[in-house]
Amino acid sequence: MTTPVPPPSGDAHHQQVLHDNLQAAARNTAQEQASRLRLYPGRWTRRDWAHASLFATLGVLVVALVPGFSQAMQGEDAPQHDVVTMSLALPPLTAAQRTAQRAHDNWQLVTVERGQTLGSIFSEMDVPASTMHRILEQPDAKAKLTRMRPGTELGFDLAQDGSLKKLRYDRSDTERVELTVSGDAITEQVIERPVEIRNVVISGKVGRSLFHSARQLGLSGANINTLTDEVFKYDIDFNTDVTQNDRFSVVVEQTWREGELIRSGPVQAAVFTAKGKPFSAFRYEQDGKAEYYNADGRPLKKSFIRMPIQYARLSSRFGNRRHPVLGTSRMHKGVDYAAPTGTPIMAAGDARVQFRGVQGGYGNTVVLDHGRGHTTLYAHMSRFGNVRQGQRIAQGTIIGYVGTTGMSTGPHLHYEFRVNGVHRNPLQHTMPEPDPLSGRALAQFRQQTGPALARIREVEDVIYADLPARPDPDRQVASASRGGNGRG
Ligand SMILES: [Zn+2]
Repeated sequence: MTTPVPPPSGDAHHQQVLHDNLQAAARNTAQEQASRLRLYPGRWTRRDWAHASLFATLGVLVVALVPGFSQAMQGEDAPQHDVVTMSLALPPLTAAQRTAQRAHDNWQLVTVERGQTLGSIFSEMDVPASTMHRILEQPDAKAKLTRMRPGTELGFDLAQDGSLKKLRYDRSDTERVELTVSGDAITEQVIERPVEIRNVVISGKVGRSLFHSARQLGLSGANINTLTDEVFKYDIDFNTDVTQNDRFSVVVEQTWREGELIRSGPVQAAVFTAKGKPFSAFRYEQDGKAEYYNADGRPLKKSFIRMPIQYARLSSRFGNRRHPVLGTSRMHKGVDYAAPTGTPIMAAGDARVQFRGVQGGYGNTVVLDHGRGHTTLYAHMSRFGNVRQGQRIAQGTIIGYVGTTGMSTGPHLHYEFRVNGVHRNPLQHTMPEPDPLSGRALAQFRQQTGPALARIREVEDVIYADLPARPDPDRQVASASRGGNGRG
């Protein structure tokens, strides 16, 4: 974190409030014995303010450590602290392992590039293929080293004469394997590398670019895509609706190892405030399937997307028309979208594939069953997507590509929407709302989302303190639970 984030505003009042809040937060943090945030005692000088924004960023990341999302729902007596750092219960390195690590810092590290094989790497390192074959006789090494992804790191420890003394690779995030070669024998040693799981609230303003700001604060590219292309895409148009002062607060689970962020989990909860209006989203898993919901437990995803194809022109509407091939007047039972051959066609909603094959004048056709009497049909495809009959697929899955098979005058998608067997106009039909969570699921959802939302609000209170307060009873509860160790 070497790049300071620009101060939230030039306003001295805001700076003062921010300073006070950070100090209060730091005191809380210290009391929870998790403090790595150092603040200057007493009044700050002008020079100190120059670093304030950097501290603010640190403040966000450190103050915002929250209890595990899953932990928080495990019972009434879940910890209600402001700051909790959690570590995975992994055995610490033994003294012997530490010595072993120190004794071998002659490692030459090789990062596997696209197209490289173990054989080509060994030959570049001038290690004989016979040594490689002996290494590959180890079942674990064989499984791991014959299927390496680009970016995988290998360590070579070579003797003076160039022969291989040791080879190391990471079997998992927490386990590093060292193979020692002596003569024909190979011995394997597994070294535990403790990782730490932290649930953090990352909060910031959009600034000049949401992507840039969010990346700088530590959100992964995948996290940002979740926000823009999945969670908020129905409510916020990120091309036009978002301004520099809009802000986001996101709860993610981060995996740290030896002071390095190695992975960010999925977005657990997020609040995006666009033009003063907050939109919230919470991840909840049901039957092994994770979806995003609003605070009331309603799915954010609509049950049907309006157009199952992007960048296409509506070329024929629903209703009576002269048939372009037959020349007679007949009912057009769907809508047509003209698009180039090969344009992907998406499943309009979650579904089971009811039919995939050739259907008379429809040519290559897919019919999807969405449950509750709703089916959709997609015709004239040039080819099918990677879906089989009977398969369950998610909304947006590519089921095929635009073509002109069957009775058709040019490349287009013919799309039908049926409710209980009756054709409806998909452009006018009121689509059913997805089912909200209810009963036990809703209770569990509330138990999970409550703490996450409270943490987001605490963090936002710290950073955006001089914004008008929201009239919200929940927030009072969150403040009260701090236990009165506020600004003193
Ligand atoms: Zn048609």
